[in-house]
Amino acid sequence: MKCEIKPESLVRKCYHTGGYVFAKKPDISEKKDFEEYARLASNENPLPPSDAVIKAVCESVARANRYPDEKSELLFSALKECYGSSYNFAVSGTGMDGIIETVIRVIVGPLDKVIVSSPTFSYYGIATTTQGGLPVNIMRKEDFSIDKKKIIEESEDAKLVIICSPNNPTGNVTPVPVVKEILENIKCPLFLDNAYIEFSSLDYTPLLSQYDNLIIGRTFSKAYSLAGLRIGYAFLPEWFEKYYKRAMTPFNLSIPSEAAAVAALKDKEHIKKTLNHTISWRDKIIENCRYPAFPSDTNFILIDTHPHSGDKITEVLRESGVLVRSCRSFPGLPDHYIRVSIGKDWEMERFLGAINSI
Ligand code: PMP
Repeated sequence: MKCEIKPESLVRKCYHTGGYVFAKKPDISEKKDFEEYARLASNENPLPPSDAVIKAVCESVARANRYPDEKSELLFSALKECYGSSYNFAVSGTGMDGIIETVIRVIVGPLDKVIVSSPTFSYYGIATTTQGGLPVNIMRKEDFSIDKKKIIEESEDAKLVIICSPNNPTGNVTPVPVVKEILENIKCPLFLDNAYIEFSSLDYTPLLSQYDNLIIGRTFSKAYSLAGLRIGYAFLPEWFEKYYKRAMTPFNLSIPSEAAAVAALKDKEHIKKTLNHTISWRDKIIENCRYPAFPSDTNFILIDTHPHSGDKITEVLRESGVLVRSCRSFPGLPDHYIRVSIGKDWEMERFLGAINSI
């Protein structure tokens, strides 16, 4: 039987259009001159997880007939061992995206204002809109530093402020004293997205003991090489923990994901290898790319392709076997930027060859 549902009148308006914009993937039936694309569009770690992590995941699958521990105690104690027992954590089995979604769902209701320092990661706006909230983009300055004064002014009647540092897609950090000043002058929580923090030399965690309006989001998708397992975590203020836990979907983190995260946290060697590789290629790209490339504290680089559009350059690179991200979908960024992730040596060499011969 076919029921007479009219999707447009049933489905909430926020889902009639929009959604997350993924980096474009090539058509697999397409004929091409190379075996494999250089995958430089999603800021993944080109190194696979270490053997210790793979072993832990494989062993954990034997227990997959059971639901995972609802408290994820193994990962909580590994995080406390790594950072200190005074912190309050949340973990997520849908990456930091899951953390962002839950934080926003707890705090933001219809018509509530959320201040977003832009251009930045798009999911903050999407998650806010789906709650009926109103994302307010406060544009970064010409050098991509945040507009501290405007953020503070606009946050007067806001429910949440969101800053990404190091920022996606611009790659720059917001200095700790600037974040401190914002925390001191806003009356709502600040969600600080630290997805790429391991690639920088900054540490905002000492602010947690001084300010109870700071939430820091982190991920295992980047420096820890676990994008495919979708594990996020956060440092929460003590007062917020019980509300966050009430809002979480049950059995949030799968058994293999928890096993992977615990093993990855212990593997300092993997992080060291990742950082050495990333930093050496960051410098080489900035030095050798024919277009201006911005300094970066992340595992990706923003490149200004003016006078060519980001879409055009992305298309030309794709034809040469290189996938990068056109930045057209980032609100507030003009249409002449691409973002390129640091990949394997051959991927970076192909990228430099291709972009410099445009
Ligand atoms: N924040 C930023 C700034 C990101 O770039 C990303 C992913 N690209 C995320 C959060 C989400 O990360 P995850 O894979 O943990 O969901």
